Amino acid sequence: DGEAPSVPRSLAPARKVALITGITGQDGSYLTELLLSKGYEVHGLIRRSSNFNTQRLDHIYHDPHAVPSTPRPPMRLHYADLSDSSSLRRALDAIQPDEVYNLAAQSHVAVSFEIPDYTADVTATGALRLLEAVRLSRKPIRYYQAGSSEMFGSTPPPQSEDTPFHPREAYGLFACNGVLFNHESPRRGENFVTRKITRAVGRIKVGLQTKVFLGNLTAARDWGFAGDYVEAMWLMLQQDQPGDYVVATEESHTVEEFLQAAFGYAGLDWKDHVVIDKKYFRPTEVDSLKGDSSKARRKLKWKPKVGFQQLVEMMVDHDIELANKEKVL
Ligand code: GDP
Repeated sequence: DGEAPSVPRSLAPARKVALITGITGQDGSYLTELLLSKGYEVHGLIRRSSNFNTQRLDHIYHDPHAVPSTPRPPMRLHYADLSDSSSLRRALDAIQPDEVYNLAAQSHVAVSFEIPDYTADVTATGALRLLEAVRLSRKPIRYYQAGSSEMFGSTPPPQSEDTPFHPREAYGLFACNGVLFNHESPRRGENFVTRKITRAVGRIKVGLQTKVFLGNLTAARDWGFAGDYVEAMWLMLQQDQPGDYVVATEESHTVEEFLQAAFGYAGLDWKDHVVIDKKYFRPTEVDSLKGDSSKARRKLKWKPKVGFQQLVEMMVDHDIELANKEKVL
């Protein structure tokens, strides 16, 4: 019904409030019973349908008009949909839950092959939409996500929390997944840290600027040359069998080491030019990346041709030349 609870919260006893998506399903109905028995106020989200789909809840649902003496119904249903962000935001606003149980999904495996787009939208992006609404809520909310043993796919048993997921391989498509570690070049976008640095080196070298503002200098990355990495892409599709491959140099350097190499190559000291700006730090940071590309090296006979120092020099040379052109303009 989407309306706020009829009793002002300040007058209500301090009972926990739960929101259940997928409340009309098997687990939703049992969870509703459990939470009600623990004294929770339970709210559920339901989708619009031309048929009533609340049969599993009918024994719980009290029509507020039929039992006028009931102070408030123990369970309330609201129209919303995991495919509609604004409906989720509004529901959280109205309900102000302490706990959210996301049980809603297109949960039928066989049907997921018939409606793959819809399944991904509701099950994957839907969880993201709900989490965004939880994140933006004024009140801290505890969130439960209904995962599935289906996520293990063909990984052999026994499957635990540490077992890697192995997505099902359907249809025999020749589809490869390249897991490329950071790959750079003079054509790298200028807001990635390597190019940001080499652009700055070029402009500082020719006198067009003096400072460069950066974030976390301790992060380490496995930086390779993009030109080498596209070769790995091509090689993947030339094999007899499709496969997933990590593409990496297997060497890791910190942002500070990149600075050292880039400024040093241009005859400059990075410490004279780098200013730390908090705005470039991230909400969560991947501290260290270093790939193991042994499968690509073994099966694709791939290996990087350009090393770290050579990559830095290629980018700095290019960006000094670019800065010189800018200076003439
Ligand atoms: P990513 O590894 O795909 O995120 O590639 P980036 O080149 O954007 O970032 C590499 C690392 O550099 C990350 O750990 C960033 O936190 C770090 N870093 C430090 N300062 C900056 C900055 O000013 N811009 C960017 N893009 N990254 C920075």
